[in-house]
Amino acid sequence: MKVYDKAKKYLDKIKKENAKINAILHVNENVLLEAKKLDEKKEKGRLYGYVFAVKSNINVKGMITNCASRVLENYTAPYDATVIEKIRKEDGLIIGMANMDEFALGSSGENSAFGVTNNPAAMGYVTGGTSSGSAAAVAAGFCDVALGSDTGGSCRNPASHCGVVGVKPSYGLVSRYGLIDSAMSFDQIGPIAKNVDDIALVLDVIKGKDERDTTTFESNKIDLKKPKELGKIKVGILKVKCVNPGVETFVEESLRYCKNISILDKLGWEFVPIEIKHIDLAVETYYPIQYSEFYSGTRRFDGRRYGKKIEDACGEEVLRRILGGAEITKAEFAGQYYEKALKVKELIKKEFEKAFENVDCIISPTCPGLPWKIGEGKKMKIEEVYAYDSLTIPANLAEICAISIPAGKLDKIPVGMQIMCGKGQESKMLSIAKMFESN
Ligand code: GLN
Repeated sequence: MKVYDKAKKYLDKIKKENAKINAILHVNENVLLEAKKLDEKKEKGRLYGYVFAVKSNINVKGMITNCASRVLENYTAPYDATVIEKIRKEDGLIIGMANMDEFALGSSGENSAFGVTNNPAAMGYVTGGTSSGSAAAVAAGFCDVALGSDTGGSCRNPASHCGVVGVKPSYGLVSRYGLIDSAMSFDQIGPIAKNVDDIALVLDVIKGKDERDTTTFESNKIDLKKPKELGKIKVGILKVKCVNPGVETFVEESLRYCKNISILDKLGWEFVPIEIKHIDLAVETYYPIQYSEFYSGTRRFDGRRYGKKIEDACGEEVLRRILGGAEITKAEFAGQYYEKALKVKELIKKEFEKAFENVDCIISPTCPGLPWKIGEGKKMKIEEVYAYDSLTIPANLAEICAISIPAGKLDKIPVGMQIMCGKGQESKMLSIAKMFESN
């Protein structure tokens, strides 16, 4: 199929269905023109035929990149982020900008200044966040792949709730140049798609060292290994506590009934229980760091350069983090919070490194509970909302890679299974994910 026809099909679907899903904030007006040019090209890139939606905190030249905030309401990006340059170079097509929680803060998609995103896989429920529109756009069939960003779970959490695949790459695998940061020491841009194959291809295109982001590193080609090449894999099943009873056993059960289980048996895959001792401190460790880094990043939104002064135009959660971040950084002369949190981050990172000496991957549910009904989030205590990231945040603290793949449905609502691997082990992680896919 020509990408022109595909883009047209997606555009029609967006026109018909986006009003009730609210996944896309802005459509690329030139998309059909761009598609036509791609169809006419003699030599086509690796992403020819792929149509992308992009989270609204990643700069796409000429598109409104507003972080779903009134603060940047009409901000049009003057340049392409590195990931966008790379996608365009390989002939990927961008159809539009996706909804999100304001400035990538939240866990449900309910913090967008432009309205909540409805979950296409379970209408009336939240999509999860903060890449709410990205996951919903894939689940609704508005695009092939969407880019999200993940600071504490924001690619994996909505992928899990919407029944699609989402990745947080290892810290430094993908350039953050052109991403409007939420917390720069955790943020990674990651793809969300319907299957592991598409994720592997896109990740291989967008990865790599970038002079404009000094935290990036070069890595080997990301590809999927055949089961035989993978050999014997030792899988650690993480001991976790879940909010919704049933979620943890559901994920374990789904492993047992995975359609490839007889192949895994033949290859000698082993399943062992595993514990990460200080994982219960992950949420308490993440937030002081996130608040402080977010707060300092927002000082440039003072109303002189970009749009409005942030404190004047932002929503409740953004304001909470600015006020909280200001307090934490004030107290920091005594090394009270940020410094202590960094120490625990290091401890958790070491515990994961140690765990990966013994197992190839660690598996858990992606989220400790099912998505809640739209509107319920506003009635929850902020601690309860923050606790929804308890299983995704550890990977950000440890700087490792993690993926969420669909594990099946509980009460007709998708449940995601998370697979974590060591830093830079994306190929292994994706190959393992492929073995469990559509189990
Ligand atoms: N829910 C977490 C937060 O609000 C993570 C968000 C994200 O990954 N961008 O900070």
